[in-house]
Parts: sequence; structure tokens; C-alpha cells
Amino acid sequence: MAETSKIVEELRSRALQLGFEAFGIASADSRPDLPEKLRIALEKGWHGDMEWMAETEERRADPTKLWEEARSVILLGVNYGPDFNPLDLLKEKQIGVISAYARNRDYHDIIKGKLKELAGLLARRSGADVKVFVDTAPLMEKPLAEAAGLGWQGKHTVLVSRKFGSWLFLGAILTSAELPGDKPHAESCGRCTKCLDVCPTKAFPGPFQLDARRCLAYLSVEHKGQIPLEFRVPMGNRIYGCDDCLAVCPWNKFASVSQEAKLRSRPELERPELGTLVALDDAGFRALFAGSPVKRIGHSRFLRNVLIGIGNSGSSGYVPAVENRLNDASPLVRGAAIWALRRLDPDRAEALKNTYLPGENDAEVAAEWSGDI
Ligand code: SF4
Repeated sequence: MAETSKIVEELRSRALQLGFEAFGIASADSRPDLPEKLRIALEKGWHGDMEWMAETEERRADPTKLWEEARSVILLGVNYGPDFNPLDLLKEKQIGVISAYARNRDYHDIIKGKLKELAGLLARRSGADVKVFVDTAPLMEKPLAEAAGLGWQGKHTVLVSRKFGSWLFLGAILTSAELPGDKPHAESCGRCTKCLDVCPTKAFPGPFQLDARRCLAYLSVEHKGQIPLEFRVPMGNRIYGCDDCLAVCPWNKFASVSQEAKLRSRPELERPELGTLVALDDAGFRALFAGSPVKRIGHSRFLRNVLIGIGNSGSSGYVPAVENRLNDASPLVRGAAIWALRRLDPDRAEALKNTYLPGENDAEVAAEWSGDI
């Protein structure tokens, strides 16, 4: 045991040097409650069209089903605390708001190398096998991080830390080594319901439950189709993700601003003009979002979101730019452009309907012209 404790201390101090600000260990079977919780969420359909969640259910709910030899899981956190309140940007209707975690480099790229280095150290010292995970494999990092003492899953389902509020990226190392676990963190939300109350689309069926189908973070990033009508106005000018439930958490007041330069906002992604964004061609989109997670949603889904933001801007000055997207090759973009035009200049939309509707071969886009959605 003395030897194992020495290895853990070495890992903890190396993790700190690598820029991980939170570190904890749980046994791989520390959350026997997860299979039941996940089953209920999937049965209710809260995962939306993230079919991969259902496909990986068994492995996702139990690390030892993911990898039979797993005995311990090391959870690591990197603070991405923003240096201003993300909610302030929602008032500036002419800009597109990108979630705090996505305004610079993709955190997967930043964390993965560091996790691998740490896992390598563990393998060398203990002779055990290791596997590295960063939100890309079926591993439920948040409840495991709670078991490892990093914080607790708040009522908004995100991990909350006393030290970093709601702003922690998580990564994990699974290992066949039996490592001494940390004390699980107690749930500390108390009577607070701020995150549930602020949600613009009422995506929380209850505390500690999230219906992704109603969540703007899911709809703007994961959802591949048109944004359902009832969520378009609440979406406002959020063009990638949503920070509302994270930003109102009172525990953020103890959080420090991220020290990782690559996780601080790139100035050009802090308040990008909707007029500039809607005019980007595919190459321009790729260049602006090089290295950023935004690039992963692709140009069409991005323009869909920008056009919803423009539709919510209240400014008829965008009408020519919106008209330029009415014959876009992507039905996703055409549909959102019609909605934006109908919001900004309904007479113009009515006048153009006879030009575009007869040649429209996509049923959903045709329905946007008819207002029949
Ligand atoms: Fe918990 Fe309140 Fe933070 Fe929500 S806002 S996670 S309820 S402390």
C-alpha cells in the first residue's frame, strides 16, 4: 500500500505540473447506481437523436463493462473559468454567442496529450494497464468525478466544484491498478434552484435530470435537423452551445479565471458579428474556427444557428444577407433563412415565396415558406 500511495502522490504532483487543477481517484465500481439512472433517462428519450448513447448503454453505465480489467479510475479537471460573465453577451443582439468552452482550442486536443503522459507514468511505475478517455468514449465522467471527490453533479447535471464552480473540463484514466480512492464529494446544492429556473427552454424535467431534446447546447451542437420552432426564439443569439445554467451557479464566485491561455477566449470568437458570420463561405468558416470545437458541427449547421440568431436580432439591416442564403445548397440553411426573413420582414418573405416555393424540393423547407411548421 505504501508503494501505491507513493505512486499516487507522484501522479498528483505531475498532474498539477501538467496543468490539471483537479485530481481524484475512485474505484471502477464506485457507482452501482448508474445503470438504473441511465436506463430511466434513455427510456424517457432524453438523449434525443444521440443514438450512440443507447447503443453504448451497458458499457457507459459501468466502467468494468467497458473494460473488464478496470479497477480504478483517475479523474482530472482543467479549469476553463471565463474572465467575464457569459450572460452579458446575450444582450448584444448583433453578435453570435459561442459557449465559453468553445472560444478557443478544442479541449480534447489540449487534454489528451497530458492524460497520455500521466497514464504513461502510471504504467511505468505500477506495471498496470491504462486507458485514456476525454469525453469521446462511453464513460460517465461526471458521476465518477463525484465519486473521486472532485465535486458533485449539480441540479443542472454538470459537475460543480467548490473551487472552480461549473467550469471544469474532465478527463479520465482507467487502470487495472488498485489505487486508494478519494472520499466522494457530498451534493451541496442545498435549496438553490438557479440553474433550473434560468433555463430558457425548460430543459430540466426535475433537479439532476436533463432532457437534451430541449437543451440549447444539444440543439445547437448535436442536433442535425432544423431547430424545432418552439426553441428558435428562446435560442436568441446563441450560435454554439449555451452557458446559462453554468453561469448562474453561485459556486462560480469562488472560481478563478482559467490560467490555460489556450482556453481563454480568442478575441475574434468573443463577440463575432452575425453579419460577418452569415457571409462566411465554407473555407472562411474553416479558417475562422481552425482548432475550435465549433468546426466540428460543419458549415451548414453553423449557418443554421447564425440565421436563427439573425432572425432574433430585430434588425432589418440583415435582410439582404438573409436573402443570399435562400437558395443555399443546404436545406438546413434555406429553412433557417426563410424563418429569419419571415421574422425580420414578413412582407418581403411573402413576396419572395412565389419565386422560391414552386422550385423547392425539400418538404421541410417548403413548409417553412408556407408557415406550416
Ligand atoms: Fe446547484 Fe444552484 Fe449551482 Fe444549480 S445553480 S448546480 S442548483 S448550486
